[in-house]
Amino acid sequence: MKSVWVYSESDSVSNEVAAAAAEVAKGAGLDVQVIELGEARQGVSSPGGKLLIKGSVRNGDSAGAASSAIAKAAAELQPAAVLLGATRTGREIASRLAAKLRVGCMAEITKVATDGTALSGERSVFAGKVVARVSCPLPAVATVKVGAYPRLTAGSASVSEKEVGVVTDQVKVLSREKKTAGAVDLKSAKVIVSAGRGVKKKEDLPMLEELAKEMHGALGCSRPLSSDLGWLPEEHHIGLTGVTVKPDLYLAIGISGQLQHVAGMKDSKVVASINTDKDAPMFQASDYGIIGDLYLVVPALRKALAARG
Ligand SMILES: Cc1cc2nc3c(=O)[nH]c(=O)nc-3n(C[C@H](O)[C@H](O)[C@H](O)COP(=O)(O)OP(=O)(O)OC[C@H]3O[C@@H](n4cnc5c(N)ncnc54)[C@H](O)[C@@H]3O)c2cc1C
Repeated sequence: MKSVWVYSESDSVSNEVAAAAAEVAKGAGLDVQVIELGEARQGVSSPGGKLLIKGSVRNGDSAGAASSAIAKAAAELQPAAVLLGATRTGREIASRLAAKLRVGCMAEITKVATDGTALSGERSVFAGKVVARVSCPLPAVATVKVGAYPRLTAGSASVSEKEVGVVTDQVKVLSREKKTAGAVDLKSAKVIVSAGRGVKKKEDLPMLEELAKEMHGALGCSRPLSSDLGWLPEEHHIGLTGVTVKPDLYLAIGISGQLQHVAGMKDSKVVASINTDKDAPMFQASDYGIIGDLYLVVPALRKALAARG
């Protein structure tokens, strides 16, 4: 039986892509194989089995090495499709892999399916204003947008093995550091307090961080705060080029609401915003709005929350 392969260097993203693969396989007579490089990970689940690709490459190795190892195994085992998480590394692995296998590659797919002859998908274009339907003959490679599918919960899966031997790579991994506490997980946060350029200086961010904590939520931001100013790490940045989030409550503070930002949070259940400009587009994407200065509104909000206990 032909398989749909799944790979992501991130456990949680792999579980999302596995959910997408399960949908693709359903009804098309395919099974799902979650790829592991070098060693099986406990937090990674599969609705089918796992394929452990053994050799010199490990989960999390460079895109060049990972794509070479997967390509070697795919050349022999001939999967119907390979789905990867659209993370920074995942995008690079996908394009390299498609080039090595000489097959088509679709990017940032939000809904993926197959009729057995082609892989088809939907992708959001023009900052979420238009949904494009794309398709590619099988075999094909695609990246699945992070946050588009709910994660499969971890469970045990049968593991088969494929030895691909030593894969040479121009990148040499010198050391690895695990991300320490403090790393934000915006995708599972029920409440997100999001900071924009209305925040005047980095030293003012703790005020919003405290508010997020008091609301049992996480701190997100618009792109300028992470990519341009470097006040927060990239994983906090929400939008077209950042994380897609769907919290119960999204509180946008000092964010103008440009299309590229809204594209990443428009599916939040309730959106509230604080902005001095009554015409800020963010208000149009909001259920509730406060026209006011964040330096007055945020302390007042914190005081009100503290009074409620
Ligand atoms: C290809 C491309 C991709 C992009 N991807 C993303 C993306 O993924 N995510 C993203 O966020 N952006 C993205 N951008 C950038 C985007 O277009 C906007 O420039 C950005 O979202 C603006 O960030 P902002 O709203 O924080 O800042 P601004 O647009 O500068 O808005 C600041 C807002 O704060 C308000 N304000 C000012 N002072 C106060 C105060 N004291 N109290 C309350 N409100 C106040 C202002 O009225 C204003 O509305 C992308 C751009 C491009 C070209």
